[in-house]
Parts: sequence; C-alpha cells; structure tokens
Amino acid sequence: MSNGIAALELSGSFSGIMAKKKTPPVGARPSESERVLVVEDEPDIAALIAYQLTREGYRVETANTGTEALGAVSREVPDLVVLDRMLPGLSGDEVLASLKGEAATRTIPVLVLTAKREQEDRIEGFELGADDYLTKPFSPRELVLRVRAILRRTKEPAAKSGGRVLRAGPVSLDVNSHQALLDGEELNLTPTEFRLLRSLLESKGRTQSRQQLLERAWSVDSHLSDRIQTRTVDMHVRRLRAKLGEVGEWIETIRGFGYRLRIPEDAT
Ligand code: CA
Repeated sequence: MSNGIAALELSGSFSGIMAKKKTPPVGARPSESERVLVVEDEPDIAALIAYQLTREGYRVETANTGTEALGAVSREVPDLVVLDRMLPGLSGDEVLASLKGEAATRTIPVLVLTAKREQEDRIEGFELGADDYLTKPFSPRELVLRVRAILRRTKEPAAKSGGRVLRAGPVSLDVNSHQALLDGEELNLTPTEFRLLRSLLESKGRTQSRQQLLERAWSVDSHLSDRIQTRTVDMHVRRLRAKLGEVGEWIETIRGFGYRLRIPEDAT
C-alpha cells in the first residue's frame, strides 16, 4: 500500500517535470554514458527512474526481479545499481549481499531504495555495503543528485591516483612515500594509523563501519572481524585523533557503527 502511495507521489513529480520545462540542470552531464541498472518491481517507479536517468545522459537498464538483476550484472557490469529493497522473491538485501560477496561485482556502487525509515535498517544495509540510501517517496531530482554524487565519489580516488597526495585542511598524506604532514610538520604515524587516516581521507566524508575500516586499514576480511578487532579500530582512532590535535576532532564517531572524516567547509 505504501508503495502505491509512493508511486502516486512520484507520478505527480514526474508529470510536474514534464509540464515545466524550466527544471534547472542538476549539474554537469556525465562525460561518457555511464550505465545504471535499475532494479525495481513496480513498473511506474522503474519507468520514472529510467526516464529521469536517461534524460540526464545515463544508459539505463531495468530489471524487475533480483534474479533478473544478477543476470544483467553478469552480462555487463554496470557503473551503478539502483536497488529497491522490497522485491518479490530474492530481496534487495539478498541481491546486495550477492553483489558484495563476489570479487567481480563488489566494487559496483549501490543506491538502495527503501520504504522503511528506521535507522536500524539503514545501518544493516550499510553493513551490507550500500553506498547510499533513498527513502520512498523520493523526488526524481534527489535520485539524480545521489546517483551523480556516488559516481563522482567512486571515480575520484582513481583519477587522483596520479598525484597520490591526499589533502584535508592542514593534513596531507603522500601515499607513495608514506609521509604524513600536519601544517607542514611530519606526523609520526604508525603504518596502521597511516592506513586508517588514508581510508578516512579517501572516503571523503562517507561513514565507514568498523568492519570496513578493518578491511581497508588492516586488510582483515570482514567475516573474521569480531568484537576485539572492532575495539582495536576504536583504540587506533583514539591514538590517531591525539596525534592530529585539533584536526582529530574532524574524525566523527557514528555511534554503534563507525567513523567518518568531516572536513569543515572553511578548511578545504
Ligand atoms: Ca518494490
């Protein structure tokens, strides 16, 4: 029922956009056609999303079921998947777990659509590896913005790898020489602290779970991480914060979940 309401509201925005041609562009168009797979069983919503993304220059394929989605991914790996959580048969969460469980598909960014608003569900999904969430009903413009933001984030580290220096305010990290500077002064970081800081910088404000940090900074498989290991993350974050002084406060604790680096706007 709630999905039906969502569809109606979406259709409203849809015809609104069709009628008014003055909708401002949401930003620069993608340079080449990036491929987006939309997994949604409700035809109205699937069509709306496909329309909106196509209009923005993306190549869009739609799948009505989870099984169909996995089939589409195995034929051609998309640049991003928009995945509805409520699907008949294989659920959205199962599709997500399947994508994240395979080396070939693990890095595909996933934007999850959910009708549930509970914070718990968000966290569950983040642990499965969703890159972002959108709660139904959503505006088509919001969807396009999220898709664009995720694709930009996932492309950035690769594009910047030539320079290999990550910066945030007074902090700079030379990935090749393993040198970390704070206000031009060498920071004495342990290799683990260095990788931890690198992971926080590379994620550009996105929250990372302790498990994700363990995988990235410690190269520990998430299946092996247990309570002790997640406490290890907390301990290293504490030490890293202390070494960073005031900048240490930029490392935000997301309670019961993980950490993110929030760079103040005036520091970039
Ligand atoms: Ca659905």
